[in-house]
Amino acid sequence: MTELSGLQIFKYLPGSKKAEHTNCKACGCATCMAFALKLAKKQIDVTNCPYASAELKEKIALHLKDPQKTIEICGVKIGGENVLYRHEKTFVNRTAVGIVIDTAKSGWEEQLQRVENFEITRIDEKLKVDFVVLKNADNEIMHKAGKYNNIITLEEIKQLPLIKANAPTFRETILRLIFARHSAVKERDEKFANPVYVYFEHQEDLRALCARASFYICKYANMLLFEDFDETLMATLMTLRQNIFTDPQKPLQVEAKIYEFNNPDENSIIFMTTNFALTFYAVANELESLNVPSYLVVTPAEGMSVLTAWSAEKFTSKMVANTLKKFDLQNKVKTRKIIIPGLLAHMKQELEEEIKKAGLDFEITVGTIEAYKIADFVKDMNL
Ligand code: SF4
Repeated sequence: MTELSGLQIFKYLPGSKKAEHTNCKACGCATCMAFALKLAKKQIDVTNCPYASAELKEKIALHLKDPQKTIEICGVKIGGENVLYRHEKTFVNRTAVGIVIDTAKSGWEEQLQRVENFEITRIDEKLKVDFVVLKNADNEIMHKAGKYNNIITLEEIKQLPLIKANAPTFRETILRLIFARHSAVKERDEKFANPVYVYFEHQEDLRALCARASFYICKYANMLLFEDFDETLMATLMTLRQNIFTDPQKPLQVEAKIYEFNNPDENSIIFMTTNFALTFYAVANELESLNVPSYLVVTPAEGMSVLTAWSAEKFTSKMVANTLKKFDLQNKVKTRKIIIPGLLAHMKQELEEEIKKAGLDFEITVGTIEAYKIADFVKDMNL
């Protein structure tokens, strides 16, 4: 059973045979074809057409079912994916990352502590290993491990409805992963409806391991288990995973607020940008590495970059004035100059007018277009 298109659905409706009730509009759509297209996109219920056959209803029930099942391991959801490509909609649940620790080996508890301690923060999110899988763990060991979070045994993992994709070579494993996802999503093949995982046994070459695991995160492992634990490997994979599993329709964004760098006081310089994560981090990194205290006012712009925000009217003079009022910047600092991104130079005058209209006392200075030129720009300000 493959995914149903509008045209395939249409074949089961009166309109395709020019039968009685063709385009009768009882479903609320102008034509049977319009109804079929909406049904394919899951925007309408099949019961809206009183003349839909039992066969069509059965096919639609299958069409609506999630192609891949979702299961939970230590509170982490895996599977539930329903597209092949992120841009079609979005991926749903991140590839879970588990570390396998063999408790028959000495030092297992130290290893467990290391995994527990691992944490990186990226785009306001704390990223950690999802769970630890204990190998050869008896009751006594499980009792000892009880003080740690998210522990499961290898035996328990083996009991779960999962498909292991390991094959003798990298290429064969990839083909298995792709075949499984394609069969689940496109063919709606029940045999491939369970989440898929790859188990990495101990490997000498961590770089090769990182390259393979990265590929499997992109296509299409729902879970990766590693016998090796290395902080740099994990940081790389977590970073990639965070990027792959963001919703492409929702840009990465940071909180709109005033950020502080190098202990600023009331006389420190003030920069401004939007809450698009990439812009924010580019500017924040520069400000952090300057030997100058500064503020960065980040305006709410639905995660759009400065020029996109301006063209989509998410960075308007009024919004800037409102943001400054909301953050009460005027009473927090004596500095009266705000440095805006060079790309918004054309807004200088209207920004100043709107700020004045709002009863605020700030001048606008046009900064650099590129973040990497901020250091020279600040040097030229002779602070
Ligand atoms: Fe066609 Fe059924 Fe809608 Fe009538 S109710 S227009 S038959 S889809």
